[in-house]
Formats: sequence, structure tokens, C-alpha cells
Amino acid sequence: MGSVGAKEVPQLLDAQGKRIDGRGLEELRPLSIEAGVLRRADGSARVEWGDNKVLAAVYGPREVHPRHLQQPNKAVVQCRYNMASFSVDERKRPGLDRRSQEISKVISEAFESVLFVEEYPRTSIDIYIEVLQANAGTRCAGVVAASVALADAGIPMVDLVPAVAVGKIGGQIALDLKKEEDNYGEADLPMALVPRSGRLVLLQMEGHMTHEELKRALDLGVRGCQEIYQKQKEALRTRYRLEAPAPTEVEA
Ligand code: ADP
Repeated sequence: MGSVGAKEVPQLLDAQGKRIDGRGLEELRPLSIEAGVLRRADGSARVEWGDNKVLAAVYGPREVHPRHLQQPNKAVVQCRYNMASFSVDERKRPGLDRRSQEISKVISEAFESVLFVEEYPRTSIDIYIEVLQANAGTRCAGVVAASVALADAGIPMVDLVPAVAVGKIGGQIALDLKKEEDNYGEADLPMALVPRSGRLVLLQMEGHMTHEELKRALDLGVRGCQEIYQKQKEALRTRYRLEAPAPTEVEA
């Protein structure tokens, strides 16, 4: 432990440059994705990523609620990101706080730019993200799950959307921060992108980085997103391989 003022700060990198969980700077936490996990939703997905556990359920395009949000020329994309009160160490007050509202808004905007909303005027595409267990990077886990759920629902989009948080810890740029790194690191930069074009659809930043560090962080994030993108596609392949109808027997 080092100390900054009165606050004890854990050592985030050891002498060999390894992180507190033994990862290298460019290594993701273990990630598993499963598509089609909820019977009642049009599409759904579960993401387990390090100590994060996140579910996404998707409906639509369907009637807009509340009705005054209806748009004559496009679908509205409504995301509700929610953290369960049991998802963090100290019980979180249930309900939508400012943080959840902000995350819901940035995720709605990210998906509005990849869904063909003009094709579905006067409808709503609803995305529910439930964080059951949180350990930093939950908005990214939510985006990863939601995009697989949207594909599972058969809602057309430009591409799947991988997401990851890059950051700065112990003076180094690192991929996929966990809780202690997020809390005690120098910067946290969640991002989501469209892999085919490289277009960023979500980019936020907390903390400080130099211009050069920011460029390196974005590069690292893009590479991390490519890895996550492969896992998203694999989850969809697994889902539809399992559900493929058995070949019909041809009578001789
Ligand atoms: P993200 O989960 O996208 O990284 P934040 O940077 O806001 O979003 O949060 C980082 C982590 O801090 C969360 O994943 C969670 O582990 C923890 N956290 C966030 N909000 C709360 C809260 N109200 N109570 C306890 N822990 C929280």
C-alpha cells in the first residue's frame, strides 16, 4: 500500500508490471457471453466478465410508452440501465439514480446510431440492462450484452457493438479496468465502437491523460473491442447452431 494524503492506495502494478489480478496491461478479464437466456424477451443475453454479471433484455420495435415520446419519422431507442442493490459491496439504494440515468442515456444514443431507426417510425426499441454483480466496466458489459440481445431479437443493425474501458494505472495505459484500478487509477475511458468502420459510438472519460496517452488508450481499446467482437459473434453462432432444426430425413 502506498498513501496519498490520508488515503491508503493499493499498489496497482508490481515490479514486473503485472496487475493486482496477475493480468498484463493489454489483457482482458475472462469474458463469457450467452445469447437467448430469457424466454419472455424478444432477445436477450448474459455477460459474465471478470466479476461483472449483466443481463440484457430487448423488445421491439413495439408501441411507444409513454406515448408522447413517439417520433413520426423514426423509432425511439429507450435504454434502462439498472444496478441491483445487491450488485455492490455496500447495498446500493434501489432505483434510478443520476448515474443510472446518465448511463441509460449514453447507451440509448450509442444504439440509436447503429439501429435502422428510420425504418420503424412511431415505434420503440426497448433495451433493459440489469447489473446483478458489479466490478467496474458495467456500462461496457451492458453494451456488449445489449448488442447481442438486439441481434438475438432479429432487430437489424449496422454491426454488433463491442465495448471496453481503457485506463491509466500506475502511470501505464491498461485495458479493461477492474474495481480497484477504476477507483485508484489515474483515468478511466469507457468506449464502444462499430468494428467494421471503427466509428466510436460511446466515449467517456474520467481523470487525466496526455494527448499521446489518449491516442495509445484508444488504440488499445480498439484492439480489445476486436477480441470482444469475436466473442459476441461466437455467442450468436452457438445460440443458432443449437437451435437449428434437425435435417429432415429423405426417404429412399
Ligand atoms: P462502470 O461500472 O461502467 O465502470 P462507474 O465507473 O460509474 O461505471 O462505476 C465503477 C464501479 O463502481 C461499478 O462497476 C461498481 O462496481 C461501483 N459502483 C458504482 N456505483 C456504485 C454505488 N452506487 N455503490 C457502490 N458501488 C458502486
